[in-house]
Amino acid sequence: TPNQERLLEVASLAKAFGGNRVLQDVNFSIGAGEIVGLLGPNGSGKSTLLNTITGFEAIDNGAVRYRGQEIGRLGAHRIVERGIARTFQLPSMPSMMSVMEVAMAAATTRHGLWETLCNGAGVRGAEAAARDKATRLLHELLLTHVRDLPASALSGGQKKLLGIVCALMGDPQMVMLDEPTAGVHPNLRNDIVQALKRLNRQGMTLVIVEHDMHFIREVCTRCIVLDRGHIVASCHPDELSSNERVLQAYLGG
Ligand code: ADP
Ligand code: MG
Repeated sequence: TPNQERLLEVASLAKAFGGNRVLQDVNFSIGAGEIVGLLGPNGSGKSTLLNTITGFEAIDNGAVRYRGQEIGRLGAHRIVERGIARTFQLPSMPSMMSVMEVAMAAATTRHGLWETLCNGAGVRGAEAAARDKATRLLHELLLTHVRDLPASALSGGQKKLLGIVCALMGDPQMVMLDEPTAGVHPNLRNDIVQALKRLNRQGMTLVIVEHDMHFIREVCTRCIVLDRGHIVASCHPDELSSNERVLQAYLGG
């Protein structure tokens, strides 16, 4: 993607758990405004790649640059502040907070508590802004009717939707989504597709771990394929089925 701003650059990234070398010499970049699918068989390292880029796992080797700045050794909170948000493959939600409260709490990740407390006049303003934003995002991701339920009472699919809401509360430039439609009711799936396309049209860069090929073809303009910790392909979704290394990855060749 030579004529797009290189938003994210991953160079020689490596990660092992004990003797299990999960990611090895991973290199790729993501252009601003792209919507990229991250594919690969189970256990190929997709979630680990998201975890290392977003600071949830320390990297062993290599570099991660975001807007030209090294972020590979920053913690998760610092990376969210830079503008990269993520969702989880299996979101766990608290039982003591409502859906609305969880969404509003996500806004504070980019504005520290002390910053808010030390600026008395700003508290109500910030709270009202968070409430407005949470209300709008819960509507866009079809959760308005459950906003007062405990977040833990949501279905698996609804928790994924709430995870997307939380990621968006901090106004990120890039969101990395870990299997956003796995386990989601088919009726909701199309709504997620439309929501992600809409976000991308508004300029948001998206990296999406996904197995569903219909989803990939509908949403992504490029795919990156992982196989046993190596990137084996970067191509248009239509070219996946004729790519030898992709077929090998899935057939265990
Ligand atoms: P994928 O998301 O592609 O299915 P993962 O990144 O979840 O793959 O896992 C890749 C490999 O890394 C697997 O062998 C898994 O057991 C291992 N792994 C992932 N996370 C951890 C962890 N926190 N500790 C130890 N091993 C892990
Ligand atoms: Mg995974």
